[in-house]
Amino acid sequence: MGLTIAVCIKPVPDPAQYDKITIDPVRKTVVREGIPTVMNPCDKHALEAALQLRGTDGSVTVVTMAPPNAEETLREALAMGADKAILLTDRAFAGADTWATSCTLAAGLRKAGNFDVIITGTESADGATTQVPAQLAEWMGWPHLWNAVTIEKTNEPALRVRTKTETEWSDYQIQMPCLLAVSRESNKPRLTSLMGVMKARKKPLAVWCRPDLEVDDADLGMAGSPTQPGAIYELEMGRKGITLLGDTDEIVAQLIEKLRAAGLAIETGSACVPGEERL
Ligand SMILES: Cc1cc2nc3c(=O)[nH]c(=O)nc-3n(C[C@H](O)[C@H](O)[C@H](O)COP(=O)(O)OP(=O)(O)OC[C@H]3O[C@@H](n4cnc5c(N)ncnc54)[C@H](O)[C@@H]3O)c2cc1C
Repeated sequence: MGLTIAVCIKPVPDPAQYDKITIDPVRKTVVREGIPTVMNPCDKHALEAALQLRGTDGSVTVVTMAPPNAEETLREALAMGADKAILLTDRAFAGADTWATSCTLAAGLRKAGNFDVIITGTESADGATTQVPAQLAEWMGWPHLWNAVTIEKTNEPALRVRTKTETEWSDYQIQMPCLLAVSRESNKPRLTSLMGVMKARKKPLAVWCRPDLEVDDADLGMAGSPTQPGAIYELEMGRKGITLLGDTDEIVAQLIEKLRAAGLAIETGSACVPGEERL
């Protein structure tokens, strides 16, 4: 029987427009107005993994908690091959930290139905905490794995999953329902075709607001976020350009002096005699 899969997708500011991003100094959130969004790159891998796992008889539902214009990102996911989409959007969700984000997503996923698997990316390109997958699994009360590289069906209600850490591979058999955060090394996301874009226009896209979700107000949005950024500073990036004058020997001597003054241990010696061939 086919698997019923949900994929969590986050729209993030287009990396090509990062120079236009500012942070609201009071709310300490990203000012998104005027910055086009794209599907979080990791989430394309999550969607590709879901589409491969779905086979011919399963279904893939994409879910996001985001401002109303995220519909565009969801349509892109539908064009890639997802079957349905759900947009969770309400001012009450704004300014959420990972606790409130994962709680809202869990409420939406519970309302959407009985999924066998929830697939997420490993991290977002903007917040990049990597916390949402594990927190979402905890809200659902499901087992979860992070950085899944391969996912295979088994004859049981379980999946065989290989994950990767910095130094090793680990193989697991995980009972469904479960949550998997998929590694960007896991696959090459498919491109959207013109046919896919046309089909996407007719696929179902539900928009759910605060009253549609069974969730405690204390876990929603900025007010329901237990972590708050303290202060945000812009890093001053710049390079000091110094011109060294003199002949080659003088310039080398000045350079060594400056590097030593900067704390670098420089050894000098007859490393190379002009005209001498070194082996
Ligand atoms: C200036 C600034 C300050 C912040 N301060 C805090 C803070 O103090 N505490 C805190 O906890 N967070 C903070 N955040 C993070 C912010 O709240 C997050 O954007 C949000 O909670 C989601 O977390 P993330 O982006 O780190 O997701 P990650 O955990 O990195 O995302 C992993 C995966 O989860 C899924 N996912 C994440 N968000 C969504 C979504 N909205 N809809 C659907 N799927 C999703 C995607 O599949 C994604 O690949 C801050 C962000 C900014 C820009």
